[in-house]
Amino acid sequence: MSQEIIKTVCSTCYCACGVLAYKEAGKIVKIKGDPEHPNNRGALCPKGLSGIELLYHPDRLNYPLKRLGKRGEGKWQRISWDEALDIISSKLTEAQKQHGAESISIASGAGLYSNMGIIGYFCYLLGTPNWLTAGYICFLPTSLATRATIGYSTPITATEIVFDEVLNSNCILLWAANPKFAAPYPVGEGIFDLKKKGVKLIVVDPTPTKYAKIADLWLQIRPATDDALALGMINVIINEELYDKDFVNEWCYGFNELRNHVKEYTPEVVSKITMVPDRDIVAAARMFAQTKPSCICQRVSLDHSYNAVQTSRATIILTSICGNLDIKGGNLLPRPMPVKSEFQLANQMANLPQEILERRLGAKEFPLASGPNAVSGFAQPFLWAEAVLTGKPYKVSALISSANNCLLQMQNTKKVKQALLNLDFSVTIDHFMTPTAELSDIVLPAACWLEREGIRGHPGYPYVISLQHKAIEPLFERWDDVKFFIELAKRMHLGIPWQNVEEFNDDRVKPAGINFKELEYQNFLTTPKEYERHKKGKFRFETPSGKVELYSNLLKEYGYSPLPLYKAPPEVTSEFPLILIGGQKSVEYVHSAGRQISSLRRTRPNPIITMSQKTAIEVGVSDGDWVWLETVYFGNNERVKFKVGLVEGMLNGVVQVEHGWWFPERQDPEHGCFESNINVVIPGDVVDPIFGSTNIRSIPCRIYKA
Ligand code: SF4
Repeated sequence: MSQEIIKTVCSTCYCACGVLAYKEAGKIVKIKGDPEHPNNRGALCPKGLSGIELLYHPDRLNYPLKRLGKRGEGKWQRISWDEALDIISSKLTEAQKQHGAESISIASGAGLYSNMGIIGYFCYLLGTPNWLTAGYICFLPTSLATRATIGYSTPITATEIVFDEVLNSNCILLWAANPKFAAPYPVGEGIFDLKKKGVKLIVVDPTPTKYAKIADLWLQIRPATDDALALGMINVIINEELYDKDFVNEWCYGFNELRNHVKEYTPEVVSKITMVPDRDIVAAARMFAQTKPSCICQRVSLDHSYNAVQTSRATIILTSICGNLDIKGGNLLPRPMPVKSEFQLANQMANLPQEILERRLGAKEFPLASGPNAVSGFAQPFLWAEAVLTGKPYKVSALISSANNCLLQMQNTKKVKQALLNLDFSVTIDHFMTPTAELSDIVLPAACWLEREGIRGHPGYPYVISLQHKAIEPLFERWDDVKFFIELAKRMHLGIPWQNVEEFNDDRVKPAGINFKELEYQNFLTTPKEYERHKKGKFRFETPSGKVELYSNLLKEYGYSPLPLYKAPPEVTSEFPLILIGGQKSVEYVHSAGRQISSLRRTRPNPIITMSQKTAIEVGVSDGDWVWLETVYFGNNERVKFKVGLVEGMLNGVVQVEHGWWFPERQDPEHGCFESNINVVIPGDVVDPIFGSTNIRSIPCRIYKA
């Protein structure tokens, strides 16, 4: 039988790995990694390899559904797309007329990836500033830290942005990052190869990742004291004059202030805070500063704290004063994409009238996160839930969720459930009937990555643009969510500039002088790298001083500390003696997605809580036991259940759990979404004062046998 091979990319995560999809008699029969794609060179992680299971999964949503009975009763009626669009457009128009466009909120999630452009644009057309994402705990605090330091919001120390540049480095500082799971290609696997070749590796992590075990230096830090550690390393580097004097003199602003500021963060002081031996702090600082080039790869754990912005400010300053900015093997400065990026499209929202942007939920409380001059322009989730429930500061009446399973993603889950029940109208578009979809009025079937086309990959990484082509036309009545937003905008007469997905994709590649159809047989475009553009007049630091601001004028203007400060995490107590890290990832799942996929679930069947043997003995539990977990914030009012997994080398007194757990196999409409969902016991309002990011990383807790 003849076989067609379609070159495409997986977009289950931002790595956007190249894929060859084999089609026979109209069916996808095999997928494998594309050896020619620069991101993965033929490799695929278990999520990518399970693409066919996702495509043909018997539980996929295939048709639009309308709720029958009460919300959450699980009774549905199949309807046509026409009827669905009619209902949605009339309900949204009614909400607009009665309560204003800002009463409509739109939530985007990681489930479909690469849809932020169309959603931001749709918000603009609709006139609502209330876009919800998980960004408040996923790189956006680092984005703000980057903007405060170099004037751009691309998080230059994030693994997805350093990406393959890490392969040119001689010293990699993995800060709270486990790229084996989160960015396996080229970063995760590449680091193992580099280590064999003698590249230095420093790991900052309370947990014994595979990288920690092979690192030259493993700083096993007390969770959420990274701010102190970075300041301590800066102290050593300045005291011992290991910083790059030319770069600091010519390109940095506020060095003397920084020098005076970090004097109090001596290795001895920092050691007491972080539990990292002072000799290791000194050794790490020396190794990082003296090995050239070096780079920091950090991940979202640093955004999971209530000092998130200042922590990332400290790490960005650390790599900057060592002269790593925009050098080969260092942390590269941002560069525009050769195509219209997701960020560019989404930023259309910034063109909403000032008075609308000022009404965004969180604009007053967190102006640099949610105000008119914000780095991201997203609404604050915990203030959204509050507004839905109280009508203050104004009524929020409707929600469209695009692959955002907010019952799993947002903190204080039970309150989020009440908020969802309180909405006048809600719509969810997703692959599966999630617990969040179960509380909606209309549920729509989304196409998966093998059924979609467009530009994929991280919108801040301009050097490899991954191109996704449909391996198969969407099955049943599944729609690309870009199509959904375009059709809804047309139905509501919002004046959207694209008539269909093809026009949308053509528009995005237009800056490169091509149309999307011409790219049918290729799954990537590349842009050559150029280093040290700031020295050639090709890059300007867009800060008030025009330099790298070690002392941030932006933060000062808004009343925050212009120099990064340490902020102590919550203390454990005799009743809650353990420190909880609440956001562990596994290679099998992307947040709450993937637990229906048998091949993934087989290898990761249960929600796990990891701890050392010593900790387990102290609290009287054993490997394999099911335990209840309670936190200092909810006491015995709420508890969640996990299975103990002992991990040799885990920091004593620290436990870590996976997030995003629910049980799709359970037939009731809650699907066990409160049973092992760590967000049930994490409050939404214990947050970073600058960004509003939640502390999910250092929570006093206790456990006992279930
Ligand atoms: S790393 Fe990400 S893009 Fe690559 S195969 Fe896995 S899920 Fe897909």
